[in-house]
Amino acid sequence: MHRLAAPSLAPVINATGVVLHTNLGRAPLARAARQAIERIAAGYANLEYDVSAGTRGSRQALCRDLLVELTGAEDALVVNNAAGALLVALSALARDGEAIVSRGELVEIGGAFRVPDIMARSGAKLVEVGTTNRTHGRDYKAAITPNTRLLLKVHRSNFQVTGFTAEVTAGEVAALAREARVTSLYDLGSGLLLDLEPWGLRGEPTITEALASGVDAVVFSGDKLLGGPQAGILVGSRTAIEACRTDPIARAVRSDKLTLAALEATLALYRDPETSRREIPVLRMLTADVAQLRRDAEALQKGVGEDCDVIEGESEVGGGSFPGAKLKTWLLRLKPTGLAPTAVAERLRAGNPPIVPRIADDHVLLDPRTIFPDQLDTVARAVRAALDG
Ligand SMILES: *Cc1c(COP(=O)(O)O)cnc(C)c1O
Repeated sequence: MHRLAAPSLAPVINATGVVLHTNLGRAPLARAARQAIERIAAGYANLEYDVSAGTRGSRQALCRDLLVELTGAEDALVVNNAAGALLVALSALARDGEAIVSRGELVEIGGAFRVPDIMARSGAKLVEVGTTNRTHGRDYKAAITPNTRLLLKVHRSNFQVTGFTAEVTAGEVAALAREARVTSLYDLGSGLLLDLEPWGLRGEPTITEALASGVDAVVFSGDKLLGGPQAGILVGSRTAIEACRTDPIARAVRSDKLTLAALEATLALYRDPETSRREIPVLRMLTADVAQLRRDAEALQKGVGEDCDVIEGESEVGGGSFPGAKLKTWLLRLKPTGLAPTAVAERLRAGNPPIVPRIADDHVLLDPRTIFPDQLDTVARAVRAALDG
């Protein structure tokens, strides 16, 4: 009975140290975004209504202006998620024609999202060029025919290719497309708006860099590095975005008012980079001070008491962003006597709220990076209880 009465979707404490944990709902929202949802959820809103004119307005104007301001793109469109945005873009820009993509970029993102499958559903004919490890500009050139409509570049966000490799950059793809008078599209995956290089995170192109490569349109997620609600965002040239906006698939994958409210509030925080880094939980966690993480791990240890120690370790960005990036952290390592790590983890997950830890090297580990400061006491108490069983 109790199980039936309780909501099935409930908060958990993420102690894994994986910041963008897709199974745990990706990006926690900033306070401003949560407040925006609350404000809009309770009543009616000007979602598609121009208040001053008293006529129908556009739900798209809401986030569009901010995206244009922040990225420098001519135009922008928000849909339900990035997979949907890619589907819209392929349908609008390549339907009934050929879309060329490198074999090295025919990726699976996870959860049955595979680039070739999306292309097939969009009505565009996939033309593969190059090999798994090496693709050259001349491969694209040789594949261009009168039926070609689009060159697609996909950011390999969740894995790295090393060794004997060659990749055609987004800039080269854009130039090849221009020369052939076809459209270029860049599936960036993670939407990084704030350069995180000062915090040691390299290798993930920012949205601005992606646009500067000269491609006609860029696709990215709202709930990965952007740190907002689930959304798929398209930015690019007026012509490309207008084609996407008027494609029937855009209506099928449109965003709801709560998402648009939260996204708008999140984007507004980026007007001041330091505010965005402080207020957006994903950015705050990714740029957390290692000394503070150590103090948090020690606070956990103090709260738990016996059967644990604090060790150095690494957190993960997750969400198919910055693959291979290692973030230095400090971990609470549990050392129960006579209790298997899986049993301790099970007890932690059975709590209210459930705590999801990491198990590595036969130990239960808790990473303070993804534990909110106001959850530290709860976690310490729950761990103590789990160890005492
Ligand atoms: C994550 C990702 C997607 C899918 O994004 P969703 O917002 O989860 O739909 C698409 N392309 C790339 C390259 C990605 O990394």
